[in-house]
Amino acid sequence: MAKTTKQKIIKVVGYLPVILCLGAFCWGYYAYVFIYCRQRLLTLGAPNGLRLFLQIAAHLLIILSIWSYLMVVFIHPGTPSKALATLKGRTSRSSSSDDDANLYVRNSSGRDSESPVIESQQLQTMLHSQNENANSSPSFQITVKQNGDKRYCRKCEYEKPDRCHHCSICGECILKMDHHCPWINNCVGFHNQKFFLLFIFYTAILCTLAAFSLAPGLYHLFAGQMAIDIDDIQLAFLGLLTGLFGIMLIFFVGFHIYLLVNNRTTIENLERTVYKVDQNGSPTTSKYLNVFNIGTYRNFTEVMGRKPYLWFLPVGNTEGNGVLYPLSSYAYNTLSMAE
Ligand SMILES: [Zn+2]
Ligand SMILES: [Zn+2]
Repeated sequence: MAKTTKQKIIKVVGYLPVILCLGAFCWGYYAYVFIYCRQRLLTLGAPNGLRLFLQIAAHLLIILSIWSYLMVVFIHPGTPSKALATLKGRTSRSSSSDDDANLYVRNSSGRDSESPVIESQQLQTMLHSQNENANSSPSFQITVKQNGDKRYCRKCEYEKPDRCHHCSICGECILKMDHHCPWINNCVGFHNQKFFLLFIFYTAILCTLAAFSLAPGLYHLFAGQMAIDIDDIQLAFLGLLTGLFGIMLIFFVGFHIYLLVNNRTTIENLERTVYKVDQNGSPTTSKYLNVFNIGTYRNFTEVMGRKPYLWFLPVGNTEGNGVLYPLSSYAYNTLSMAE
């Protein structure tokens, strides 16, 4: 869908908070490293080892925070059009393993399944076989609207894949949409979720470290032993900001880790998902069943990648295509039986 002039203007103006954030990082870096670590701590007689440690830690955390931040700002979360076109082409070329795929889910109960997870490849084959039976075009949905109808975006004019939502600010559908964030002028979705998580994670540690290390220095400075100058006011302001953001971000990170290990997005956490795993069945919903929850470790690696040495680096290695997701066999079978 082509963007309107209004949406283009919103996108350009939306970079002001991004510039503000980057400016805050630069100022914070100057105040903490140059004023506090290199001048004030020296005056206060702090050990050289401590000053060195704080500076190395601050540099590392600032680099990782800004790197993650730039990635989440500039990496598009993904739209369904390209991913759907690729999948539809691939699906129409191969449907050879229908029987294999059905073996995983149609054997009476989840307990007897060969694997606790239905891989996205198997799901693709299963959905294709259902569509063939129904003589309809390829569909990649197992979630539907409350009334059981297919999820369709009238603005973008295509079926919304599972976990995809239309963002009115971005003016397009976003794969695995989590939320739109004005501070990054972007949506958090399938392709940039990992960068968002790493950004809030590193910034939370950075703020907490800065706030704790600034506290004793500020106490000495404001205890009356020295005349207060403009640098001290900057440090006091930095202490206040890092303290507040540190507390806020710790809770925010905790919430997003909870979502990550349970394989939920913020939107899914707020609404009740309706499933229709068989096109001929009726819609089913459950407060407790999350068909995308494939176990803590797999939920984690689905977003952060399978290589542990890349988990904490903001490089793109999220698994999948953003349209089809591996499913829990147990949840799938339970929903199948409920229909
Ligand atoms: Zn849309
Ligand atoms: Zn958006």
